[in-house]
Amino acid sequence: MTKQHTPDEWITGKGTLSIAGTKVELEVTVPAAPVQPTKMLPVFQHLTNVVVAVGVSNAEAAGEQISCTKGCGACCRQLVPIAESEAYQLQALVAEMPEPRRSIILARFAEAQAKLQQTGLLAQLLSPGELNVEARRKLGLDCFEQGIACPFLEDESCSIHPDRPLSCREYLVTSPAENCAQPSAETVQCVDMPASVSQIVRTLAATRAVNWLPMILALDWATENPDQSPARPGPEWLQEVFQKLTKK
Ligand code: SF4
Repeated sequence: MTKQHTPDEWITGKGTLSIAGTKVELEVTVPAAPVQPTKMLPVFQHLTNVVVAVGVSNAEAAGEQISCTKGCGACCRQLVPIAESEAYQLQALVAEMPEPRRSIILARFAEAQAKLQQTGLLAQLLSPGELNVEARRKLGLDCFEQGIACPFLEDESCSIHPDRPLSCREYLVTSPAENCAQPSAETVQCVDMPASVSQIVRTLAATRAVNWLPMILALDWATENPDQSPARPGPEWLQEVFQKLTKK
């Protein structure tokens, strides 16, 4: 008979993970009972931090230095791709903010969307599945050119740093910070990450034709599409991510 777990039961596992040839010791604690992917995000955030640390360590071993510092938010005007589970997480995060902070953040989201609508970019963002790869790349650049800051950016720093999306965690550069104001493949050198946890998490229980959402649309999308993702025990979600991460 299968053991039934209560919602407050957790399982901790330790092991060695091999990521692109680098072995890392990992200890993770996951819910034992079935949960939706959003509940797994703290685990995926930890895993992302571990993989990013490997990327940083590799870059430093090759003599490179990370240019990103607190107070530099140039990259926070880019299109941030997130998973559906992250949209629900951000929706809950904003809903729990005290006033007037919540209203300020909501107003920034609305202002950013209004600007995207004026420039005709909102329609493309709402239907990215109709765009080919090149058109999506151009859409990202066109959005960046609008200079629309992320609603969570304050004093050029991330105001939700511990809860920031996975793709924000993975974006680090070694080129001069000032180059990020006019990014191009030639002038911005991103840290080569050994794997992308954010891309894997975006595939979990994805319901859209394209398995990413622009963060700027996250709150509206989460409101219009209540979370109906399947619930699975924490170890099962983790196993799927590990298999994709290690390509086994
Ligand atoms: S969530 Fe934070 S790190 Fe990510 S784009 Fe917004 S301000 Fe920048």
